[in-house]
Amino acid sequence: MAGADRTGLSVLDPASLAAAHPACQPSPSSLFNIRLSSLLLPRSRILRRSDQAGPDYASAQLLCQAWLKVLQFVAMEQELNGIQLSVIAPVYNEAPNLDPLYRQITAALDGVVDRYEILLVDDGSTDGGYEVMQALHQADPRVVVVQFRRNFGQSAAFAAGFDYAQGDFIVTLDADLQNDPADIPILLDKLAEGYDVVAGWRRDRKDHLIRRIPSFLANRLITRATGVQLHDTGCSLRAFRRDVVKSLRLYGEMHRFIPALASWIGIRLCEIPVNHRPRTHGQAKYGKFGLDRTFRVILDLMTIYFMLGYFGRPMHLFGGFGLVSGSVGVLIGLYLSGLKVVYGYRYQIGDRPLLMLSVLLVMIGVQFLAMGLLGELIVRTYYESQGKPTYHIRTVLSRDHHE
Ligand code: UDP
Ligand code: MG
Repeated sequence: MAGADRTGLSVLDPASLAAAHPACQPSPSSLFNIRLSSLLLPRSRILRRSDQAGPDYASAQLLCQAWLKVLQFVAMEQELNGIQLSVIAPVYNEAPNLDPLYRQITAALDGVVDRYEILLVDDGSTDGGYEVMQALHQADPRVVVVQFRRNFGQSAAFAAGFDYAQGDFIVTLDADLQNDPADIPILLDKLAEGYDVVAGWRRDRKDHLIRRIPSFLANRLITRATGVQLHDTGCSLRAFRRDVVKSLRLYGEMHRFIPALASWIGIRLCEIPVNHRPRTHGQAKYGKFGLDRTFRVILDLMTIYFMLGYFGRPMHLFGGFGLVSGSVGVLIGLYLSGLKVVYGYRYQIGDRPLLMLSVLLVMIGVQFLAMGLLGELIVRTYYESQGKPTYHIRTVLSRDHHE
């Protein structure tokens, strides 16, 4: 790469810059600006070098300047025409709700947000909902439709929405009109105050009592397990800064834990009461009372607890169990051996259940320690194979960014 090094052109490749320059690693709300500023830095290096060198550098310098002008122009365009807000709604068999949903969202946002998109993720609807979405898209290009091949579930629909969202801010809500789009501007005001995530709280929830009681208990449990203080962890009406959702990965049915998952990267979170309405059209997708999800929530909660507390250090959890179990096993074994020593070799310990327990505990201990070690290996593979950082940066104030 000597040639590229001489002209400095390799330094101008945005992809390699993004990889090399730390300022490009985080994903702040205006990604492009950061990228641009990171491009400006190496330029000063190149220009300095070109002063000392021959004619090759003069042309490189010209090239740099032209390239920068193009980038500045594109950045200005982005700034002026970029989408400010993406409203994401997962849709599964909600055909009768789609028209009113569109009208209510536009009524809430027109005059409040200049450039927004409504991202409808069709999660394999079979009730003709996709045709309604198509018609909405034809009539208004701000409606963006992502259609799944089959039903992948609400979490996958949110995940697709996050992947396709172009806005600096993201709002999610259900498509069944139980959330009120008129609340969106209030959530946005909170984001403008500096919060990263604003969660809706269905204080006056319009669901059946049989549904609300397990939900209340689940909320308390989730709050305890995750340490994220929310009254209502299950409300889909939420608002985020772009960089928060872009770093989220949703698996299974983890959409219920989005604020808790996001808390891992370090967020400023607030909760505000929002309107909640009864379902008027279509059917609830998780059963009338939503009871069948209770067990799944409990199991997911264990995963979340592990993810938030021990994802980067599985050995501390499994190794902890292993050490305790192994040590107790060894102690019992020592005790039995002691008896044998004290009372002589005729003393029988072979038929004592305590011996079984000792062996069992030692074996479990070894298993747990091995599991912890494997976990450590997997975590390292996870981070290193994808070049993922083990931290998330909010801001960098460095000499380079000094005005
Ligand atoms: N949903 C989805 N895929 C599914 C189940 C639900 O996209 O597999 C959507 C559904 O269309 C609705 C939202 O997720 O917009 C919430 O679903 P529902 O109203 O049935 O849940 P609840 O209000 O009972 O929590
Ligand atoms: Mg609903």
